[in-house]
Amino acid sequence: DPAPASAPDHAVCPFCGVGCALRYDERRGVGVGAKGAVNRRGELCPKGVAAYDVVGDDERLTAPMVRDAPGGGLREASWDEALSRVVDEFAGVRDEFGPDALAFFASSNCTNEENYVLGKLARVLGTNNVDNCARLCHASTVAAMAGRFGAGAMTNTLDDVGEADCFLVWGANPAEQHPVIFSSYLYPALKRGTDLVVVDPRETATARHADVHLPVRPGYDIPLLNAMCAVVLDEGLEGDAFLDARIDADSLDALRAHLDGFDVDAAAERAGVDPADLRAAARLYGGADRAAAFTGMGTSQHHCGTANVHALLNLALLTGNVGKRGAGVNPLRGQNNVQGAGDVGALPNVLPGYRPVTDRDARAAVADVWGVSPPAEPGLTEVELTHRFGDEVRAAYVFGENPAVTEPNANRVADALDDVFLVVHDIYPSETTEYADVVLPGSAFAEKDGTVTNTDRQIQRSRPSADPPGDARRDFDVLTEVARRLAAETGVAADLATPGFDYPDPEAAFDELRRVAPIYAGVSYAGIGAASQRWPFPEGATEGTGVLHAETFANGERRARLEPVDHVDPADEVEETQLVLTTGRVLQHFNSGAVTRRSGVLTRLRGEDSLQIHPEDAAERGVADGDRLVVENDRGRVEVAAEVTPAVRRGTVFCTFHFAEPLANRLTGDALDPTAKIPEYKHSAVHVRVA
Ligand code: SF4
Repeated sequence: DPAPASAPDHAVCPFCGVGCALRYDERRGVGVGAKGAVNRRGELCPKGVAAYDVVGDDERLTAPMVRDAPGGGLREASWDEALSRVVDEFAGVRDEFGPDALAFFASSNCTNEENYVLGKLARVLGTNNVDNCARLCHASTVAAMAGRFGAGAMTNTLDDVGEADCFLVWGANPAEQHPVIFSSYLYPALKRGTDLVVVDPRETATARHADVHLPVRPGYDIPLLNAMCAVVLDEGLEGDAFLDARIDADSLDALRAHLDGFDVDAAAERAGVDPADLRAAARLYGGADRAAAFTGMGTSQHHCGTANVHALLNLALLTGNVGKRGAGVNPLRGQNNVQGAGDVGALPNVLPGYRPVTDRDARAAVADVWGVSPPAEPGLTEVELTHRFGDEVRAAYVFGENPAVTEPNANRVADALDDVFLVVHDIYPSETTEYADVVLPGSAFAEKDGTVTNTDRQIQRSRPSADPPGDARRDFDVLTEVARRLAAETGVAADLATPGFDYPDPEAAFDELRRVAPIYAGVSYAGIGAASQRWPFPEGATEGTGVLHAETFANGERRARLEPVDHVDPADEVEETQLVLTTGRVLQHFNSGAVTRRSGVLTRLRGEDSLQIHPEDAAERGVADGDRLVVENDRGRVEVAAEVTPAVRRGTVFCTFHFAEPLANRLTGDALDPTAKIPEYKHSAVHVRVA
């Protein structure tokens, strides 16, 4: 069926990257699905049904607040006082320490227009220090895929992946984290006979449907992927026609040489999987006419995350599974606008449309529209910025994020947050507002007008059905006022081309975005209302692009390179008495939990965290199900209830990062991937004992 237009009155669910359309049903008091571009039958998961629970919550921030002195409390203030404080401090820091002493944390949970304004503000002030929490989830995926193909997004679309003969789900759990993708796009294919291979240290809700489940040892994806490539080559499963036409011949020779004599059994042992299962998985994937790979944070959140994704791309390219329907490499995004926040340039190394800040022509094109050229030097990433707080970085604007809970090595982050002038712009008091000097009350998803871009590059309109409570304001209005006042105070305003930050509405900002981001050039609010719009959608095209890389790759090349990759040991060495903590999400909550912990329904479904531990690891430590445990390492210590289950592999323990207590990120480290600067959330050495 043709994709339906954006429903005229719907919002887009904020709680994952699927992009389900929904509206509030007053009679039932819950969110109900509206038939939308993604959820064509109006399906929602429990988070979507509960989405409106948290919009009208009594604890919403309803007035600006300021802190008069360090250690003192926050008090209510007028908008004028709070904004004057922000502008004075940011302009003062810029004057005294230079523009790179400013940091802007944009939000994958806010609209394209809001992220665009914040990115533009950073750049016209003279810094590329703008990032968003995509840094913490898929930065390595984007680095590898953009480096190899010229685009870091999902290669295929939800409309075509169901045509696959085999799904390979690597480090993702769509049955819980992208439920409508699983129920509406993947599960029907499984029922028709599509094979499913799942690679995950846990037997997740997705893995329970698998033909082959490989419970990989955290941090050992590369030996497993190399072994699968070796089986493909040994057994003649490579895609010969694709290799001839689309792969650089020298790089194919290099990969063949790299894998010549590769010991598949030894690699399987190293990765902690059964060699027979590994071979079976390689045969299912390599033997399929069309095989679609899906990847998530199990692949990306490692200090070798970029290399992991390169190894996955090798497998997809070697088997000819790029550039055709029912195939591809498809990162599943975790927030409603994690794709869009990057598209519109809320990243330190690229301008809107992913044009590098180092590209003179790209800067000139942006300067033509803005009147001010962006700086040429890439900025710092989120975790790097927190490392510089109080030193090179003196003031930070945190918009719709909760870094006190979500950044790795949380005890260090808590100290760092105390070391800057901190503005938090959000809808609830959070663990991060406890460190704020100014708090600006913003708008929830149902109070916003703007666009968001989902995991398969579909740009949808999200419309408001309510006003922000009390004295809170729409985020777009707050950001444009902050920008106008800061531009005026710093003198930048005099150089800005009209309209500067005087957008009459979000559509005007989107129209400006189209002029600086060629991948969005053909998209318009009018068009979004008429049909599903997917980027790349260049100027003059009649529709967006579905399957990427079909004839040429997005970088304009006909041929891609294969890149031999070697295993990199995890950053934490694991002592004999230690276990490996891997963190993740569950169906009922969203990221730091600052929002979903306020839903009565969702907290009734899951009100607290637990630590999954294998029965044999539990027995060795005298742990019984439900025991209170101490989990600790050099970085921190938490207490959490034990969930003894064979669903997690031996030697590995799992908990979420949705809760302030236990705050799992006290235990995670901030070793960063050298390319993407993503931290290693998936492998932390910990001691576990009964409290
Ligand atoms: Fe919301 Fe994602 Fe659930 Fe859809 S699948 S209702 S977008 S959380």
